[in-house]
Amino acid sequence: MNAHVTDRLSAYLDGALPASVLERVRAHLEQCATCARAYEELRGLRGLLRALPDPAVPAGLVDRIHWHLARDASVSASRRSPWRSVWAAWTQPSVARPVWFALAAATLVVIMSLPMGWVSGVFAPHGASFDPDAYVHDYLLLSSDRLTDDVTRTVIAHTALPEFTAAR
Ligand SMILES: [Zn+2]
Repeated sequence: MNAHVTDRLSAYLDGALPASVLERVRAHLEQCATCARAYEELRGLRGLLRALPDPAVPAGLVDRIHWHLARDASVSASRRSPWRSVWAAWTQPSVARPVWFALAAATLVVIMSLPMGWVSGVFAPHGASFDPDAYVHDYLLLSSDRLTDDVTRTVIAHTALPEFTAAR
């Protein structure tokens, strides 16, 4: 029995060893002075620790703990709001990174396409650019019932609007 059992002594004192190991440790302690000395030291140390008085709880500690718990609960309840949870969900890194990236990309596309839309006239509202020929054409069409004098007929003839003259 050369294998020392010092690493088992704590469990041996606690009675936490299986029966087979317990018997082996007991037999070893009867033969090995080194392990027997370690066992006595450990047992004495435990006895000293058990003899120490329990630390006294400061007066009012329990009341103060309850007071802090109640205060924290009320503070967190007052801070809780639907917008807070929504904001927290949107700012989570797993959600926020792709969403904010998509928003930034969409904003960039809109910003870059606006000048091109203005240049190409896609976004221009109807009538924004004044076309004199179209204006005269529309005016004459709408007021043709009242055109009686030759001056006006001459104006119509000289506006060079093919569809208008073709209708005549
Ligand atoms: Zn030993």
